[in-house]
Amino acid sequence: MKQHDIIKKVNDILKDVQNISFATITPDGYPHVATRTFCKPTNILGGYISTNTSGNLAQSITKNNKASICASVGDDNITLVGTAKIVYDKKIKEKLWIDWFINHYTQGIDDPEYCIIEFTTERVSLWVDREIAKFNIDSFINPVSYCGLLCTTCDFVKSNNCNGCIATKGNPFYGECKIAKCCLEKELAHCGQCDKMPCDMLKEYSCGDGEHCDKPKGSRLEVLEMWK
Ligand code: SF4
Ligand code: SF4
Repeated sequence: MKQHDIIKKVNDILKDVQNISFATITPDGYPHVATRTFCKPTNILGGYISTNTSGNLAQSITKNNKASICASVGDDNITLVGTAKIVYDKKIKEKLWIDWFINHYTQGIDDPEYCIIEFTTERVSLWVDREIAKFNIDSFINPVSYCGLLCTTCDFVKSNNCNGCIATKGNPFYGECKIAKCCLEKELAHCGQCDKMPCDMLKEYSCGDGEHCDKPKGSRLEVLEMWK
């Protein structure tokens, strides 16, 4: 599976998952794993969970901010490793409030026990569609194409000595690319900066049925959303 397809697959799983395992290191150096619910929306870059201010989880990350999330849907399994911090911004806490939280935090968002933790991914390891993959977030967070495809992990780099569409100014090994040309004419770094995204041409590349279209459909659009 290509890396942009893996990213889309991971994001789809994270949208569906009900509960996640959230691991931290306690102040005395032991791992501590708890089951939590993700506050939506979230994606491969990270997300938010709620917990009690006085609980082990919140107390642990004030001493050691390293954390890990494991999510599993069917046979697919994702582990995200990164850092966590407590969110104090009231607007974010208001936005992430879910009605049933009132059963835990009876004073609402001002309840001193209502705590939101922000998790930021640094690296990913996974078993998805019977394939193993491991990569750092740095490997895809900077734009490497105009359409959202991750050129750096493309087979054509080696097999066709392709330098990618950015370095070749829209003329990779097979000739001029219409998407790259359109971005260059609009002076955009990538389609994620375009107010017409996703236009019909981009949708055809990302969601079409052709051999080189995304599997699952829309993977490039997912990457462009994150670059945006
Ligand atoms: S389809 Fe065009 S914009 Fe996308 S990676 Fe290939 S050359 Fe670049
Ligand atoms: S989204 Fe479509 S119109 Fe906008 S820059 Fe990309 S190819 Fe061009």
